[in-house]
Amino acid sequence: MADGIVYLVGSGPGDPELLTVKARRLIEEADVVLHDKLPGPSLALVPDEKAEDVGKRAGGERTPQEYTNDRLVELAQEGRTVVRLKGGDPFVFGRGGEEMEHLAAHDVEFEVVPGVTAGVAGPGVAGIPVTHREYASSVSFVTGHEDPTKPESAVDWAALAATGGTIVVYMGVGKLPDYTAALREAGMAGDTPVALVERGSWPDQRVAVGTLASIVDVRDEVGIEPPAVTIIGPVAATRARVRAFLASPYESGNEQS
Ligand code: SAH
Repeated sequence: MADGIVYLVGSGPGDPELLTVKARRLIEEADVVLHDKLPGPSLALVPDEKAEDVGKRAGGERTPQEYTNDRLVELAQEGRTVVRLKGGDPFVFGRGGEEMEHLAAHDVEFEVVPGVTAGVAGPGVAGIPVTHREYASSVSFVTGHEDPTKPESAVDWAALAATGGTIVVYMGVGKLPDYTAALREAGMAGDTPVALVERGSWPDQRVAVGTLASIVDVRDEVGIEPPAVTIIGPVAATRARVRAFLASPYESGNEQS
């Protein structure tokens, strides 16, 4: 067994104050913090001398996951205390599961430190509850990254449409036209409220609201880009009702709907 330890830590959605107290302590105590860009503004809590960016390499291409996996093992075998800092929660579309299994397979001790996932926090700070006693009794978290028209698609959009609950899509900016079409084909009404929350809790957060029929045009008009989450369902309309009283430190001066 290696002498070091790896903490798989969620940073929360971006605002450094939405990182857990435990995550902050572990960052302070760590010898090395491996991170990518997704923690956004919360990276300000990581001292430069501990930071190791495994998001992008020089030249712009992504660091292969195998490199990150091996680097975690290597550092632990050197006896280091390592924080692997991931945006949101490490186990929600964060490859934390893969890293954990790799560590276990190489006899490295680890601890999991959950974080506030963007699919809950992004809508939350924008005045959108992902469940609501009157409008949504369930919520599904799905990836929009893959092509919904492919027969082997892992996300069953028709089944999701049938739940009647909220659908929160991660990595879903590019494929928005495909999965909104798939949901409409499955019978979901074109006037179903839809919201996009871009860089939720970052100082330049933006929110755009429309319907299943209009949201692709809204995305293009506002110019929404990743990272953003898509919220589909009646709860997306709550923002308009509360907005006048929603104190948001994140949206100053941005165009919003
Ligand atoms: N582990 C992360 C998700 C990583 S997948 C979590 O739990 O939040 C990357 C996707 O997360 C992005 O494409 C986007 O859909 C979402 N995301 C992450 N941070 C975000 C933020 N601050 N605002 C909106 N979406 C965010």
